[in-house]
Amino acid sequence: MNGSEIVKNTGHIKPAAEFRDNRLFKKLRHGVGKAIADFDLIENGDRIAVAVSGGKDSYTLLLLLEDLRRRAPVSFELIAVNIDSGYPGYRTDVIEEFFQKNGFAYRMVPSEHYDIIKEKRRPGSSYCSICSRLKRGALYEAAQTLGCNKLALGHHQDDFVETLLLNQFFVGSLKSMAATMLADNGIITVIRPLVYLPEEDIVTFSRQAELPVVCCCCPVCGTADMQRKRMKRLLKELQADIPHVKNSLLKALSNVHPRHLLDSSLRRDTTGTKRSVDLHVNPALLPDLDSII
Ligand code: SF4
Repeated sequence: MNGSEIVKNTGHIKPAAEFRDNRLFKKLRHGVGKAIADFDLIENGDRIAVAVSGGKDSYTLLLLLEDLRRRAPVSFELIAVNIDSGYPGYRTDVIEEFFQKNGFAYRMVPSEHYDIIKEKRRPGSSYCSICSRLKRGALYEAAQTLGCNKLALGHHQDDFVETLLLNQFFVGSLKSMAATMLADNGIITVIRPLVYLPEEDIVTFSRQAELPVVCCCCPVCGTADMQRKRMKRLLKELQADIPHVKNSLLKALSNVHPRHLLDSSLRRDTTGTKRSVDLHVNPALLPDLDSII
């Protein structure tokens, strides 16, 4: 299979049919349905590229969206897209077999990303930043080529919460990810329908369903993203005392009180005009601000 071909869904096989009565699958589907409704992720006539890397999250995303597509009152299309970064040993054949077995329309996109990374990466710099940028660009390009207006990514609740903490702990910024946003190319809308799904439920489902998860086979596989792993450990520890801590952190992202933050660009008067900032705070007094929030 080369990158210029799309394999169409014949419709003869019913994707995800074997999972439909699975209780956990129903729970996950409910979470995705709620995200779609809360953030208007899918509209009539959408043609959605679904990024599938062969990991548990992306397979689960594809199965859930396909099941919802068959039930939805609106009409939309799905095309699974796999980007092969070219890491030796990456089993695209396993992923393609999954698409075929389940009757998905799909496109396999080969690339020379690994060669580019080997050539361009500065010694000591992160593999992941260049790899993920190249992959994201290839996904946008593939989505556009396929006539898709949206690209669905498999980020789940834990990704949102960990990213929120990472940005606060290491970047000094109060931000995470958006459930829906227009990509930098101004054409493709990125959607993240798994926003409400806890990773542990996806792990359990992927085992129950025996999804054919494959390794990315990159040189830093399993060792990359140490800071994210620290956030995972921290959240796990916190969860022992505060069972709903992840739900609460996720909820915080949709319950923002700009007046109680320090970002001057958010301080606007009722007419929407930006106000000048009159925040003359002695840094030594900053801890006291907690008491008025
Ligand atoms: S872990 Fe490997 S495949 Fe994933 S973004 Fe980093 S370099 Fe790329």
